[in-house]
Amino acid sequence: MSAFHAVTGLVLGMTDIVPQLLDWYGRAQRDLPWRRPEVTPWQILVSEFMLQQTPVARVEPVWLAWIARWPTPSTTAAASPADVLRAWGKLGYPRRAKRLHECATVIATEHDDVVPSDVETLLTLPGIGAYTARAIACFAYRQRVPVVDTNVRRVVARVVHGRADSPASVRDLDDVAALLPDGPDAPQFSVALMELGATVCTARSPRCGVCPLTTCAWRANGFPEATTPVRRTQRYAGTDRQVRGRLLDVLRDNDSPVPRAQLDLAWLSDTAQRDRALDSLLVDGLVEQTADGRFALAGEGE
Ligand code: SF4
Repeated sequence: MSAFHAVTGLVLGMTDIVPQLLDWYGRAQRDLPWRRPEVTPWQILVSEFMLQQTPVARVEPVWLAWIARWPTPSTTAAASPADVLRAWGKLGYPRRAKRLHECATVIATEHDDVVPSDVETLLTLPGIGAYTARAIACFAYRQRVPVVDTNVRRVVARVVHGRADSPASVRDLDDVAALLPDGPDAPQFSVALMELGATVCTARSPRCGVCPLTTCAWRANGFPEATTPVRRTQRYAGTDRQVRGRLLDVLRDNDSPVPRAQLDLAWLSDTAQRDRALDSLLVDGLVEQTADGRFALAGEGE
């Protein structure tokens, strides 16, 4: 029996999940700006780049300013890499900004400024992996494709398999595909599944008392503990990520190259860590060095 059919078998008898989840989502969905009907596929793509590893509350103001300034791939592609890094602000993981800029350039030049709609073509674009490609096909083009993020994986582990959580697996797509309804409700069901994981069936404090699902294998089994180690939340203070952020802050605040000494002031406690962080920014192409040894955001070192 294939993994898909095994999961389909488990899902039989859970047919109430679809109407229960869709009804709940209709009442309880968050009003997120990238879900509004006037939002374009490009703007949804921008939101997906920003939401990777960054909470909604931090993304929302940056996304709104971004799409007001650069509403299309071609307007984004025409911006300088340094302006894109400045607009990315404090969202973190700034390589995403660089990849978004590269993605905009490819869409503007090779796809007539239109975000492709099929998963295979989306996967060829810079910065787009398996999750993002399916999210765009589903959320922007209303396609019936399984979309699996950590929230969806956890909900399916609990509801279908009776486990507290589940590590990423090649079977994830089959699991979610088996739950998707036929017809036009499939994209809405995908969003609703994700929303349930983000707001009700959360990792640490699932709110089963307000859950709309009447069938849940984990609850029915008495909430057995996770068999895999719980992933610790990554600390930020003192990490190379924090040092990189401090160095980028200095360069964002200056529109001309700065001397090394000015960057050194941004992190005084560990000079080896500071050197390592600066080297990594240079390697990532987020920062460049001028001929006379000063430093600038990408594209501003001439
Ligand atoms: S009943 Fe609890 S564990 Fe099951 S899906 Fe709902 S919130 Fe999650």
